[in-house]
Amino acid sequence: MASETLRVLIPEDRLQARIRELGRQIRQDYGDAPITCIGVLKGSFIFMADLVRAIGGDIRCEFLGVSSYHGGTRSTGVVRITEDLNNPIEGQHCLIIEDIVDTGLTLDYLLRTLEVRGPSSIKVCALLDKAPRREVDVKADYVGFSIPDEFVVGFGLDLGERFRNLPHVAVYTP
Ligand code: 5GP
Repeated sequence: MASETLRVLIPEDRLQARIRELGRQIRQDYGDAPITCIGVLKGSFIFMADLVRAIGGDIRCEFLGVSSYHGGTRSTGVVRITEDLNNPIEGQHCLIIEDIVDTGLTLDYLLRTLEVRGPSSIKVCALLDKAPRREVDVKADYVGFSIPDEFVVGFGLDLGERFRNLPHVAVYTP
């Protein structure tokens, strides 16, 4: 569409610097312990790729597919698991890696779903946090950036599968 605009909200260098900080912080908090990183597909795949390298040490990567948006710019509030983990997480230190926490419905659902599988611990790292939009009381343990209530794309985040490959985070205006 000719009229849509993208405005850079978080440039690439700020994203990368913050991810390095998050990685250092997470590794410091977990010491030498192995961490099972659970990427929430698809939005977290680029963030996760950078974050697991920034954390370093003993890391296992797992992926969970969920869908809460269906090609639009507002959540339907319905969370669906589209692809489950390949391996058990019992007794493991799990870190859920999310692209963005918006209403919190997805994260709340994920935490409830994974907690019953008996992990040793479960924490959350989200690249972006839209705290003013929260509908359920759920909080990420590690947050890259707090952002205002605007629809963002890039760095893994899409609109109808477009824009995931932008190296920055941008505000999308139709
Ligand atoms: P929640 O369940 O917290 O409302 O929404 C979480 C999911 O909605 C995120 O994982 C992401 O896929 C999607 N989402 C929420 N806000 C945005 C946004 O501003 N841009 C994009 N592209 N997706 C978003």
